[in-house]
Amino acid sequence: MPATPVLKSIIAADLKQPWVGKDAGNAGFEIHYHDRKETAMDREILRENDTEQRKCLVNEMQIVFESKSENEGFARTAVASFIMPLNPTIDELADIKTAVSEAVTNCVIHGYEMGPGKIFLDAAVWDRTLVVSVTDEGRGIADIEKAMEPMYTTKPELERSGMGFSFMEAFMDAVEVESAPGRGTRVMMQKEIR
Ligand code: ATP
Ligand code: MG
Repeated sequence: MPATPVLKSIIAADLKQPWVGKDAGNAGFEIHYHDRKETAMDREILRENDTEQRKCLVNEMQIVFESKSENEGFARTAVASFIMPLNPTIDELADIKTAVSEAVTNCVIHGYEMGPGKIFLDAAVWDRTLVVSVTDEGRGIADIEKAMEPMYTTKPELERSGMGFSFMEAFMDAVEVESAPGRGTRVMMQKEIR
């Protein structure tokens, strides 16, 4: 399987930098607006300089919606329609829909704990690779490694099985999580449509 240059590159410029070295207390949670600019820049750099990793940006979209469980279906259908031009197989489609659902459900249940808030869905296609990110500005995750362990859940009382991240990892080629307690969480996922 090829490496995941697109995901790594975008994460480096798009996610880590805006958060590093910032005083969370003063800066607030400005990742979303800040990093959109960074992403555009990073894409240009990727396209122009990196011959080995050169990939062509085919399409991209952004959707912002309210944190409600009924929007989980909306989000997964939106991403499914978005990748239709690539003619995904039924299995690929099902994998992507499940992964998006899990990520969005996590924002609703854990990020905003069923309260109000916005969820940001960003998707891009590079050649035949879908890169999708799901972001909330909710409570964040203190220990990401632990959260991603199979069967780890902080809401056993809601009969959560702690398998959301495991499904995302199983169904996508790559999954990266960025989070800051009190500021929010972003899950980036990548999958090549073969
Ligand atoms: P399941 O997905 O099987 O219903 P779960 O949601 O608890 O259960 P995961 O999706 O694997 O399991 O998430 C593991 C843990 O990571 C959660 O219990 C929660 O503590 C934390 N977590 C996941 N996503 C977020 C988020 N967006 N914001 C805050 N915490 C999160
Ligand atoms: Mg979950």
